[in-house]
Amino acid sequence: MVNAELEGWTRVRGRLRAEVGDDIYSSWFARMDLEAIEDGTVRLSVPTRFLKSWIQSHYAERVLGCWQAEDQKVGHIEIIVRSAILRSTIMPKPETAIPFNGHANGRSITIGDPDGHEALGGSPLDARLTFESFMVGRSNMLAQAACKQVAMARRTDPVMFNPLYLHAGVGLGKTHLLQAITWAGNAAGERKVLYLTAEKFMYGFVSALRTQTALAFKDALRGIGVLVIDDLQFLHGKSTQVEFCHTLNAMVDAGRQVVIGCDRPPSELESFDDRTKSRLGSGLVVEMGSLGEELRFEILKARVMAARAHHPSFDVPPPVLAYIARTVTHNGRDLEGALNRLLAHNKLTGQSVTLEMAEREVRDLIRPQEPKRVKVEDIQRVVCHQYNISRSDMLSARRTANIVRPRQIAMYLAKTLTLRSLPEIGRRFGGRDHTTVLHAVRKIEGLVGSDMALAEDIEVLKRQLQE
Ligand code: ADP
Ligand code: MG
Repeated sequence: MVNAELEGWTRVRGRLRAEVGDDIYSSWFARMDLEAIEDGTVRLSVPTRFLKSWIQSHYAERVLGCWQAEDQKVGHIEIIVRSAILRSTIMPKPETAIPFNGHANGRSITIGDPDGHEALGGSPLDARLTFESFMVGRSNMLAQAACKQVAMARRTDPVMFNPLYLHAGVGLGKTHLLQAITWAGNAAGERKVLYLTAEKFMYGFVSALRTQTALAFKDALRGIGVLVIDDLQFLHGKSTQVEFCHTLNAMVDAGRQVVIGCDRPPSELESFDDRTKSRLGSGLVVEMGSLGEELRFEILKARVMAARAHHPSFDVPPPVLAYIARTVTHNGRDLEGALNRLLAHNKLTGQSVTLEMAEREVRDLIRPQEPKRVKVEDIQRVVCHQYNISRSDMLSARRTANIVRPRQIAMYLAKTLTLRSLPEIGRRFGGRDHTTVLHAVRKIEGLVGSDMALAEDIEVLKRQLQE
């Protein structure tokens, strides 16, 4: 790809981020890469089918619009799903890469599938996501230790915590750890480890139902030692969730390990029933915090070392690493993106990496302050405190002005500071309808334009919540 295209892409990303906001951007677009531009068609790639169909159905026009604002010749956007193999250039695959869920040390780790449907093939693994390449810091120490313990446990060891439930925001290393368990566990050969994205579980199950081999699917699933399910928040649909719950219970009751990765704690899985939520929370729940500056520096350093194995002339002076570690957000994906750009620039132009180049290349990845994950409960608590009302008043049906306004403010903050949908927020506010929430959001949006005191209040509340 030529340099100008990469630069154009950087600007398009910046535009997109400005248009949709940081939250939506990091949920849906952070992992979108430019593959090629040909004859007015821009080909973009994302890692999963789910992301592809979501972006296509919700954001296709937007993305096209952003491109056209940069380059009028672009007439069409094509989104493809990239395989893990094609992902990024920065971390070379280890020489001993084991094929996707194929054979580890000569042992077959795929599940036998007489009917030939691929429901249980496991999701593709990225050979670079191992314990060796995972840097440990304060924010992920517990998660890493728990995952190692799971990967190394012997068949006869008592199960220590089941399920093991990891949760964290985007790009903080959940998938990295879950795949590390899969690699290490299967290499150790004690217990079969099956890694499935929730999406794969969902499609596998649905397609198995359609081909009437649900029983075979269940049996096969129950025949493995460690079941790893990533991105549980994407598991939709009542019947899939019921089946998931059965599987979870069957596994745990049989003393087999379940490991879950999710973007939120069990209690916040709105669409799951209470029994499943409490079962999910009954083992060990670990939150992975944001990557601190020191950890970011270590990750960058390790990445550069890995890249140098394939690109010996690539060098990033420590001050540049320190600059990126300090300014680029806590998200591991953006760190990877930043280094990829430096590498691309270095390869394409032959210029060595300088602070000035880094400042130019990573500009759009810099955010003044990474927004913290804010919980609806925290919003309610802080707003109630500020306006001196009780939480039960806030959730009640009472409509006196001294309660209505704080309630609207809290709903507005819930909409702007969290990724929760309007109906979810409505439920959290005493079972209100989503139109009520929408009304509140619009109301406050309208008022902050004219009411300086209110605008200031809201700023203070936001700051309090994000500290
Ligand atoms: P998540 O699944 O939580 O969204 P990922 O596991 O996909 O995040 O991590 C995003 C990127 O950051 C990956 O390239 C991953 O290798 C890297 N990363 C995150 N945490 C670490 C870490 N502690 N050490 C090394 N790389 C990390
Ligand atoms: Mg992930």
